[in-house]
Amino acid sequence: MPDLILSDIHANREALEAVLEDARGRYDRIVCLGDIVGYGADPNYVVEWVRANVRTVIRGNHDKVCVGLDPLFVYNGAAQKSAEWTMGVLTAENRAYLENMARGPLRVDDFDIVHGSPADEDEYLIHAGDVAGAREYLEARVTFFGHTHVQGGFQVGRGGVRSVYAGRVLEIEVDWQYLVNPGSVGQPRDMDPRAAYAVYDRGARTVEFRRVKYDIAGAAGKILGAGLPQGLAARLYEGA
Ligand code: ZN
Repeated sequence: MPDLILSDIHANREALEAVLEDARGRYDRIVCLGDIVGYGADPNYVVEWVRANVRTVIRGNHDKVCVGLDPLFVYNGAAQKSAEWTMGVLTAENRAYLENMARGPLRVDDFDIVHGSPADEDEYLIHAGDVAGAREYLEARVTFFGHTHVQGGFQVGRGGVRSVYAGRVLEIEVDWQYLVNPGSVGQPRDMDPRAAYAVYDRGARTVEFRRVKYDIAGAAGKILGAGLPQGLAARLYEGA
């Protein structure tokens, strides 16, 4: 049965709701690759939704920094401010939930999930060269990753590493291993401001990349209303 693959929701309630509306009827389980909070203005709503609805979830770096598990100084100014603000508004229950999230890689049936890379949960897989270093850690045929907020990914085989382009249905072939990024629900950075997600169908051996418009003005307005840095609102319009 298909799995809904979500990553980098980043406390963006409007984007999450649009994704769920668009995906209705296409899946029967939800898997999440981390960074459920940070940047956005609805951390409690999103954590509570994850707690109630997501079958398997791993932590991202922002989930760590927002509860003090990662030091603030390694982040840029806007990320620091949003982490401090998030820390201040999280309920005790939601804070405890974030403190105890699982670390990737984690096996889910026949696929693996990681936040950054199979080698290191905080590593960015941006270029084919990054993937060459991580390939020895690949175990499953398909590994889903997030962290870069860029929909797409890589396929790894005897011939080397090739890019997987979003915007089409990916067919899983037996001679390859796949690193697939569903894109970011709540803060896309691939120059497409629409919320991103993917649907993995094990039976059909396909990954469908999807994008959906959402109420960016609503999410951005809440960021500004919370006194968070203006750039965090502006980048939602740009998808960057
Ligand atoms: Zn993220």
